Amino acid sequence: MYLSKSDFLKFRICPSYFWLWKNKPELVPEDSPAEVRENKFEQGNQIELIARQLFPEGVLVQGYNTQAVSNTEQMIADGASTLFQATVITENGLLAMADVIEREGDGWILYEVKSSSRVKPEHIPDMAFQKLAFETAGYTINETRVIHLNRECVRHNGHIDPQSFFVTEDVSDKVAAIMPEVKDQVMLALEKMIQPDEPTACPCRSLSRGKHCPAFAHFNSDIPEYSVYDVSRMQGRKLAELVDLDIFNIKDIPDDFSLTANQQAQVNIEKRGAPHIDQVAVERSLSELEFPLYFLDYESVNPAIPLVDGVHPHQQMVFQYSLHILDTPDSELRHTEHLSREASSTALEALAAQMREDIGDTGSVIVWNKVFERDRNKELAELFPEYASFYESLNARIYDLMDVFAKNYYVHPGFLGKCSIKYVLPVLVPELSYKDLAIGKGDIASVRWYEIVTSENTSNADQVFADLLAYCKLDTLAMVKIYEKIKA
Ligand code: SF4
Repeated sequence: MYLSKSDFLKFRICPSYFWLWKNKPELVPEDSPAEVRENKFEQGNQIELIARQLFPEGVLVQGYNTQAVSNTEQMIADGASTLFQATVITENGLLAMADVIEREGDGWILYEVKSSSRVKPEHIPDMAFQKLAFETAGYTINETRVIHLNRECVRHNGHIDPQSFFVTEDVSDKVAAIMPEVKDQVMLALEKMIQPDEPTACPCRSLSRGKHCPAFAHFNSDIPEYSVYDVSRMQGRKLAELVDLDIFNIKDIPDDFSLTANQQAQVNIEKRGAPHIDQVAVERSLSELEFPLYFLDYESVNPAIPLVDGVHPHQQMVFQYSLHILDTPDSELRHTEHLSREASSTALEALAAQMREDIGDTGSVIVWNKVFERDRNKELAELFPEYASFYESLNARIYDLMDVFAKNYYVHPGFLGKCSIKYVLPVLVPELSYKDLAIGKGDIASVRWYEIVTSENTSNADQVFADLLAYCKLDTLAMVKIYEKIKA
């Protein structure tokens, strides 16, 4: 069993999590679907391929593990001065593959390529681990550098210029500053990795949900799935107090326990097991709406490598929208939609123009979680100045249906403290469901579209496009049905 940098970064998060990951990985749930992880991995590979163009002398080391180690040594002996995927395995079990090493005098410069737009704090221990592994294997590392994406760079004439697409930062001083700490932690990780007994310690019991690692449920099987950690903004001293009292079930929170108004509402609902509906507040909120009502939902992708001109790395790009329209309270519901079937500026402009046709100059634009749609409108306004005033006006007319639930005007125990449409819909409109759809989540929609428009094999394109249309249509129909339900 080797210790790689990704293993080491898990150790830095928590030794118990690290042990489980190394010894019983099947017990650690993944934080995203396999399809989404594979797509991310593939995009990382593509970025690395572009970054290699910065090193015209570079040669790729073939193979993995011990085979890659001997290939690395042979290529260096043969005089290679720049290597991609140079690999070392140290006697004490460290395994490191460097994205790039470049000869400098008697030593080497070690590079890691990152798909982020800046050097992140976790990149420093990551680089320190790589440096330590290479130095332990006998290499002299003069400098450590991070190559990351340049947020300001936009795709131009269908082309990515590697020189302006990346920024290279020397992080040697930062790496040197944490090296003593990293050396100690690597020794501890090597010991922990081969410890035979599964750890039981899980100090995160006193920390809020956002700070738990994916192994929390495994180490805390006595805690219910919906628990005090799911109470809105439950954290700090208040949470620690409940944990000290051994209270994990929301129903067991004492009536006199100090809570905010929002927390109290959520706890009351759970205790009562019945919904709370402030119909006056709901109707006051809905009275802001002006007909025609446009129920709008976008789907988008934000690939590291921009797909169209004028877009920078990781910028969201809308590829689809669905629109349900209620012209008057008594009108028949209308539906329209648009889906780009290719990744191109022309397709994006066609979408922007079609929406201009589909949405009139008056009436409310109803969305779920307005931050997302508002930002997409801003981006479309910037990309297509001829439609700027239209997209700016949409933002002035936007109404967030989620607010009714986020502001606790309508709370139901079945929402489990959430206000995402994926929690609200099955409770309020159980006859509508994402379960039977081939695509049931936004991240899967993004990946499927990205894959089909970037793949040479388009044999199933019609099916994927039909699945995407069905998914986005359900998102807006769900809003219509929820609106009808709560206004009654
Ligand atoms: S939840 Fe438990 S296992 Fe996970 S990081 Fe926290 S203490 Fe470690």
